[in-house]
Amino acid sequence: MTEQTDVVIVGAGGGGAVLGLALAKKGIRALVLEQASGPPGGLRGEILQPNGQQILNRLGVLSRLPAEAIKPVQLFHFCRAGGTRLCTVDYAMLPPPYNRAIVTLPNVAHHIILQALESHAPRSLRYGVRFKGLLRDGRRVVGVAAECRGKPLTISAKLVVGADGAFSKVREALAIPAQLHRYREGYLIAMLDDTDGLDEGRYFVGRRTILGLFPATGRKTYLFYMIPAGTMERVKDGGLLALREQWCTIDPSLEKTFHGLTDWSQTAYMPAARVKTATWVADGAALIGDAAHAMNPHASQGRMQAMADAMSLAEIVPTCLERGDWSAAALAQFERSRRPQVTMLQRLADEQVLFWNSGNPLLAYLRDRVFKTLDRNQRLRYRVLAATAGLRDTPPFSLLDRLMAVGLLPDPRADRMPPDASAQAG
Ligand SMILES: Cc1cc2nc3c(=O)[nH]c(=O)nc-3n(C[C@H](O)[C@H](O)[C@H](O)COP(=O)(O)OP(=O)(O)OC[C@H]3O[C@@H](n4cnc5c(N)ncnc54)[C@H](O)[C@@H]3O)c2cc1C
Repeated sequence: MTEQTDVVIVGAGGGGAVLGLALAKKGIRALVLEQASGPPGGLRGEILQPNGQQILNRLGVLSRLPAEAIKPVQLFHFCRAGGTRLCTVDYAMLPPPYNRAIVTLPNVAHHIILQALESHAPRSLRYGVRFKGLLRDGRRVVGVAAECRGKPLTISAKLVVGADGAFSKVREALAIPAQLHRYREGYLIAMLDDTDGLDEGRYFVGRRTILGLFPATGRKTYLFYMIPAGTMERVKDGGLLALREQWCTIDPSLEKTFHGLTDWSQTAYMPAARVKTATWVADGAALIGDAAHAMNPHASQGRMQAMADAMSLAEIVPTCLERGDWSAAALAQFERSRRPQVTMLQRLADEQVLFWNSGNPLLAYLRDRVFKTLDRNQRLRYRVLAATAGLRDTPPFSLLDRLMAVGLLPDPRADRMPPDASAQAG
């Protein structure tokens, strides 16, 4: 069976679903192919940063997030494992109305996006369809070969978008060279039933220790805990009690919260990978999200960046359609607009991996000094927060800022908000 459309998107994850919706809202014909049999049900990172909130607002879905499923959070305390506070970051520093993070219950935002897509463009989202290969006319990509419940399906399209995650088959079929780096550490993530119900985020760093706790609605707490890659089964063999005891040594005052983990079904494992690709575009094709540039979760931006790619690519599709030009040169405008922020975030996240994940006492000492400087220095604290919030494209620190951050130089502007702060209101 052969179908025709203008844009075919492989993958209905964080980026693909937003691209499908953004194109549907522009009245452009698109099909979104998803290998899973329905919307995702598992546990994932569920923090919407300010840039993600802006995107959802532009798509008209932010206000549709059910109030009972979301929790706005403003304060995040960074602490040394053991409990000492190092630095507090307050999202209220950011320009309103996006001056908070939003922690959602699992998949809430994603399901709302998928529903909006289905209502704007009925039958454009196809579950149970697996990408198998590309259709080509010479060098140009002109569609995809797929499999739908065991039956072959071909779809011809002017643009094929690989939104199929870090291990992208579309990227492979395009023969785009990619460096895929698997980090030595991944994360055990969990949704705890927390009778105490935290209101503020906590983030503990120690020697090879990272434990994060984010308050969710309905007296739930979203937790992530760094473990060596491939050791989830060993952690489970150790038992729930042993795991909760490890967390209690990090902060005994949270013992009651940790007791909210009573079953392994509350947990999942999140591997961490980074993807760097030579290009994100080819004649008739583009990559978005993790397929183009997966990043370490320290950036707290994986899903946001996939959504930002989707919005940026959707912007140029009407012009490509009008001109009939789907060449790599025409699509490169999308890549040019997105590369700076992605590159900055990948680097920032890797610096954080070096200093935060480390067991090296010197690196841990420098890390703690930087946190303590940030606690006193409003200008530098704003810069780091704006990067994590997805509101800047350039690195938060210059060379001089780095020297100030480790305490080697005084900062005469420490009490001042950076001049670029109001410009980031977006
Ligand atoms: C457990 C976990 C926790 C995370 N926490 C956070 C967080 O707190 N904040 C954050 O910003 N990011 C987080 N991330 C990262 C974030 O989820 C990703 O960066 C983001 O989802 C990337 O979006 P994407 O569309 O590129 O890929 P994905 O969301 O991975 O979507 C890819 C889609 O493609 C589909 N697919 C793959 N192959 C095929 C094929 N051959 N045919 C058809 N369909 C296919 C997959 O089924 C999937 O639905 C987390 C990731 C995980 C796994």
